[in-house]
Amino acid sequence: MKDKSAQLIASREKLVQQIPDPSTILPGSLLSRMVRCNKPGCRFCEKDKGKGHGPILILSVSLGDRQVRQIPVPGEMKKEVEDSLRAFAQTQKLLKQIAGLNLELLKERKRQRQ
Ligand SMILES: [Zn+2]
Repeated sequence: MKDKSAQLIASREKLVQQIPDPSTILPGSLLSRMVRCNKPGCRFCEKDKGKGHGPILILSVSLGDRQVRQIPVPGEMKKEVEDSLRAFAQTQKLLKQIAGLNLELLKERKRQRQ
């Protein structure tokens, strides 16, 4: 059944074309949070009263071993960072799908040898 292989290859090609530009990708997730500056007398950070500064954007990246890196992101970079996070997630999703198709294709190729 050669059609099945051709189908799988066509599906794979469609997925490959959807992969975002890998030069843009960023890992992690973007959080929004209030921060305290710890400067004495700051009215924003007053104990039990002040809400702190912000909200500021933080890119939180897991480094493995329960380590997390938190990188503040300027507001004007928000959209760019969001796009890059989305590109990474999309790339990972597509790679998984392509790997799955290649497994099917491997099975199909082995079947055709017999
Ligand atoms: Zn403060």
